[in-house]
Amino acid sequence: MRICFATNNKNKLREIMEKLGKAYDIISLSDLKHFEELTESHDTLEENSLEKAQFIYDTYKVNCFADDTGLLVDALDNDPGVNSARYAGPDKNSQDNMALLLKNLSGIKNRKAKFVTIITLILDGITHQFRGEVAGRIAEHASGAHGFGYDPIFIPDGWPCTFADLDLSQKNKISHRAIAIEKLVDFLKTKS
Ligand code: IMP
Repeated sequence: MRICFATNNKNKLREIMEKLGKAYDIISLSDLKHFEELTESHDTLEENSLEKAQFIYDTYKVNCFADDTGLLVDALDNDPGVNSARYAGPDKNSQDNMALLLKNLSGIKNRKAKFVTIITLILDGITHQFRGEVAGRIAEHASGAHGFGYDPIFIPDGWPCTFADLDLSQKNKISHRAIAIEKLVDFLKTKS
């Protein structure tokens, strides 16, 4: 079955292809010749991932799924949340985002945080959502050279180091996105 992952991120594509095997023909937005960024106009990850999947389903009439991820920090009322990519401004600069988060948390003892990924799948017009979540805390200082985004300042529970201290294959086994993808893959396997 042909199914579109509403992304142009090659790492995300590879991750899902590895997990799905050959049962599905996964295509991406570039295969549809869609190169514009998809609109995210809502206040929740659930609504934004649905908005992106619905747009692709309606526009290209293809079964598809879209993801949306946020870092939710307890002491900051779950900010940056849906604004994680643009926390420090529109240019999506990870160093600036981390610096702002560390500044906003300075002097605050409660460092609890979690990464949440929501995947919305639209299959033959029916919508399904899958959630992946990893709890942890925000470090006092950045550490590690792997990964992207907030990885250098996020310490997942049960680990002595940040996501960025782990190599990518290790992180991809335990991440919020991996958990949501595994739920999606388990579901799709029941349909093939
Ligand atoms: P997206 O919905 O996957 O584009 O994620 C939105 C933003 O959340 C990204 O721009 C990153 O700043 C952050 N983010 C998402 N996933 C991760 C991750 O696995 N590690 C660190 N930051 C992430």
